[in-house]
Amino acid sequence: MIVTYLAAFLVLPTRAALAVSLVQFGGLLLVGLGFSLDPRSHPVLRAALGNTLLQTYLVHATFIAFLALQQRLLQHYIQALVNARHEATLARQDALTGLPNRRQLTSWLEDALPHVSHQPLSVVLFDLDHFKRVNDTYGHDVGDQTLQLVGQVLRRCVRQRDRAGRWGGEEFLILVDGDAGAALAVAERVREALSREGLAQVGPVTISCGVAQAALHEPLDPLLRRADEALYRAKHAGRNTVKLAA
Ligand code: GH3
Ligand code: MG
Ligand code: MG
Repeated sequence: MIVTYLAAFLVLPTRAALAVSLVQFGGLLLVGLGFSLDPRSHPVLRAALGNTLLQTYLVHATFIAFLALQQRLLQHYIQALVNARHEATLARQDALTGLPNRRQLTSWLEDALPHVSHQPLSVVLFDLDHFKRVNDTYGHDVGDQTLQLVGQVLRRCVRQRDRAGRWGGEEFLILVDGDAGAALAVAERVREALSREGLAQVGPVTISCGVAQAALHEPLDPLLRRADEALYRAKHAGRNTVKLAA
């Protein structure tokens, strides 16, 4: 019978397993009670049997309680693991666009630097042109929708191995697993794709991009600074363009 309790808790949800076990335990109680109260049985035998039955009931009840408790603890543990995983994902995701956020991008960048990964790495840093005007003219919600649209376009037109995310505000960053030439191509592809998109009332989204390839042993900060300088030159060249870092 002990094995039946165990099997019930293994295959059934906790409540059902508890119900099945209690029904079975109730049956055992009834059989024992019937036997102990039977006036035809010998009093000495009845007393000895009553003692054994009492111990058996205690063992069964303890075992059922133990199974129910450990099942409950296991469920709590699994739920805590699921929650922790979910929170870890959220901590690395931008709430507005659903793209990887700066924390996630930084972690990827650190691992992707050439002296760590032994692979080439380039970055595309881009910024929406005259985005303040969108907010000022159409309101902050339309500004938010435009940022979400950029997220959708990035998900669509950047290959999975080239990881894109929101760097902050209206700036986005793409890690390109290749040299400057490959990164320039990615930047042009994104710039063109975005210039074909836009919310009906706002019109096309234009961006300015700075591209930089990491030199061997170059730390992260100088690499990002060079990409930012190239982006600044793209703005000064009239926007809606891509510039390569020196
Ligand atoms: P430029 O072409 O030189 O980049 O001009 P700009 O107007 O895009 O640049 P500026 O830095 O002056 O403005 C950026 C704007 O982006 C200002 C800020 O309110 C807006 N912005 C940043 N984050 C968000 C956001 O999450 N939602 C919305 N709606 N606006 C944001
Ligand atoms: Mg900006
Ligand atoms: Mg801008």
